[in-house]
Amino acid sequence: MTAKILGGREIADSIKEEVRGEVARLYEEQGLRLGLTVVRVGEDPASAVYVGNKVKTSNDLGIISEHIHLDADTTHEELLKTVKGLNERDDVDGILVQLPLPPHIDSAAILEALDPEKDVDGFHPVNVGRLNQGVRSLIPCTPAGVIEILKRSGIPMVGKHAVIVGRSNIVGKPMAALLLKENATVTICHSRTVDLPSITTQADILIAAIGKAGFIRGNHIREGATVIDVGINNLTDRDLVEPFFPEDEVQKRLAAIEKRGYTLIGDVNPKEAIGKAGYFTPVPGGVGLLTVAMLMKNTLEAARIRRKI
Ligand code: NAP
Repeated sequence: MTAKILGGREIADSIKEEVRGEVARLYEEQGLRLGLTVVRVGEDPASAVYVGNKVKTSNDLGIISEHIHLDADTTHEELLKTVKGLNERDDVDGILVQLPLPPHIDSAAILEALDPEKDVDGFHPVNVGRLNQGVRSLIPCTPAGVIEILKRSGIPMVGKHAVIVGRSNIVGKPMAALLLKENATVTICHSRTVDLPSITTQADILIAAIGKAGFIRGNHIREGATVIDVGINNLTDRDLVEPFFPEDEVQKRLAAIEKRGYTLIGDVNPKEAIGKAGYFTPVPGGVGLLTVAMLMKNTLEAARIRRKI
């Protein structure tokens, strides 16, 4: 069997176009301008890239985007004051505090200080609770993106057995709540699960959110299953390229390691998954592309919920 590849690019582009249309319509019909504010603290280089991407995409779609960049030595109290100020501003529909925050700041307390109606990452306990109750809320972007991939690729979820490997608050747990909402039968596995392959091979839909390069292998996958790879890992070891990647990708991956020092790989071994799964999301080019698109969708949803439109 050769798996059909479920790419994220087209789906992400369609979602962004839908948001662009709605943002324009709200402006034309109601004079409303949507606003997203991203707060970044310190100089983490990966965070700088992610924030740049988010700000650029929102501006492209007609959402007014503001980037507040604070010094690494900003105190917890100063950040709290910034967040509270944004909560009060009517022109701000979405607030995103880029993680990770410097260690002297209590991240959980900062996230709890956000107005839940502006929490476009969907991490506030109120939004977590609402998601688990199955009521309207702001939903974490990555698992929400996985649902879009499944829906828009015509992969049925009702009554299907979905197995998630990983139980983090940002991926595994919200993923389970969303799949339940779609009427899948859901199992969550984690590092203490005994005999993982005996469970994952029962999956019609297998979702890997582990943080370990190529961890899910052919023996974890039921023939023909849909395999969604949420993982993003840097692979630096040239010797692992051949066991991990299909023959036609090996040279490209080796060249990437040569040039940048790494190539991206998910939590699934792509070579073995492609030979066993029915559908498979690639890394890069799969789930990762949906995250910013879903952030834009959440900003629109936040405006609709708060402004009751
Ligand atoms: P995380 O918080 O580190 O959670 C990892 C989960 O994997 C934990 O629940 C852990 O179990 C489980 N796990 C670890 N080793 C395992 C094993 N041997 N067998 C079974 N389960 C195991 O990671 P995360 O934040 O959810 O991220 C997961 C992956 O997704 C990472 O590669 C990350 O980079 C990627 N990611 C991508 C996006 C995106 O596409 N935009 C967004 C977020 C995350 P325990 O709970 O028992 O420790």
